[in-house]
Amino acid sequence: MQVKLYNTLTKQKSDFVPLQGNEVRMYSCGPTVYSYAHIGNFRTYVFVDTLRRMLEYNGYTLKHVMNITDVGHLESDADEGEDKMEKAARKENKDPYEIAKFYTEAFFKDMDSLHIERPEIIAKATDHIGEMLEFAKKIVENGYGYETSKGIYFDISKLDKYPVLSNRNVEEQIAGARVEVDPEKRNPYDFAIWIKAPENHIMKWDSPWGLSYPGWHLECSAMSQKYLGEVFDIHTGGVDHIPTHHENEIAQSKGACGKIPAKIWMHGEFLLVDGGKMSKSLGNVYTITNLQEKGIEPLAYKLFCYTAHYRTKLNFTFEGAMASQKALNRLRESFLKHQAGNEEIEDSKIAEYKERFLTAINDDLNMPLAMGVVWEAVREEKKSPKIAELLRDCDKVLGLDLANAERYLQAQTQIEIPEEILELLEKRKKAREDKNWELSDQLRDELREKGYIVKDTKEGMTLEKV
Ligand code: AMP
Ligand code: ZN
Repeated sequence: MQVKLYNTLTKQKSDFVPLQGNEVRMYSCGPTVYSYAHIGNFRTYVFVDTLRRMLEYNGYTLKHVMNITDVGHLESDADEGEDKMEKAARKENKDPYEIAKFYTEAFFKDMDSLHIERPEIIAKATDHIGEMLEFAKKIVENGYGYETSKGIYFDISKLDKYPVLSNRNVEEQIAGARVEVDPEKRNPYDFAIWIKAPENHIMKWDSPWGLSYPGWHLECSAMSQKYLGEVFDIHTGGVDHIPTHHENEIAQSKGACGKIPAKIWMHGEFLLVDGGKMSKSLGNVYTITNLQEKGIEPLAYKLFCYTAHYRTKLNFTFEGAMASQKALNRLRESFLKHQAGNEEIEDSKIAEYKERFLTAINDDLNMPLAMGVVWEAVREEKKSPKIAELLRDCDKVLGLDLANAERYLQAQTQIEIPEEILELLEKRKKAREDKNWELSDQLRDELREKGYIVKDTKEGMTLEKV
């Protein structure tokens, strides 16, 4: 079935056909590793994971590159402020390389807990200084770069068109700009491709322009070209990358080789928290660990992400995430019930569910619709292993680790039940073994008063919070 993807470049949803045979070459802008990634960042990586999985589900093979930004990302995307890595290093009294190592490890720990597939190639900016320098030199040789006292800048007026991705009107923005434009720049939207390092900058390299370091946008241009060639299939990021980072990546590639590097540009919309922007001053910048502390599993957050299409804003609340935690447990329990069931379900019904699921995911990753199909299948009256098999198949795209449903449910029981409740449960088990129904009921009431409902089912005893 045909995959359709929305392309920010053409502002259209169109049929996806890889440039080379069955292989999809894809590049994703990765994290800047100066602090813990927050749940907003992970919404974007969940979107990329779903894209990967959907393409694999459709039989494509992937060559996917993600970068790790460990140098050159200044506080503002428009070349203002300090290098985020150096600032964090000073604050934590550490070497920027130590900072990068620590937060890269933390990032992948969270990625693993979300069951996000690893890209085939993970490329660290500081490992590619040589490639970036060559790229910058080419831009300058081709007449697109010029030197100022601060570094090497890209001259956007040399391009046939700028911007190409965003709708922003450069002239209007210049007129309304609040920040003072660097007088050495030829055009206000010119940006740094190479930055001359101030005395105290730790990360710096020799270059024709003295000790310096690459601008943030350059790493993605140089590394995508190294691993994927001048033109590849898909480039992803968050919507905040559209007006500056991706616009400038495109400018750089056009300056170096005259081509827009990717055919399709896909952008994940932002996660909001309590209806607004996440910000340190509001104290609402949550990490995956913060959610876990409140009893919300990383995979429940992943399921929460599927409640909205990736191109629409999603509002995070703890109530919403808790509802997804409950839904995930319901999904796991139903999966297990279907697995243990022995009722008959027609193959045509399963095929129909499969078809509808595939139609939803192939339609530019319509995950809310895909989940609707999954819930319908889950709620089938008849408990059949065929449904369990169907759910396992859908899970290739959902990445919720349903195969281990039982283990997660058990782990929760172990973590969440206080000692006192466990003792009461043990006493009740003994009472039932002794056929002392009166004591068993008494203990059930006591457990209820303490906030737990015990049910005796065919499969055994279950415990729920009131
Ligand atoms: P950074 O580490 O700041 O470069 O960001 C990593 C990724 O997270 C980028 O693709 C951003 O576009 C994305 N991102 C940042 N904030 C949010 C948010 N609130 N919601 C969704 N994605 C975000
Ligand atoms: Zn990038």
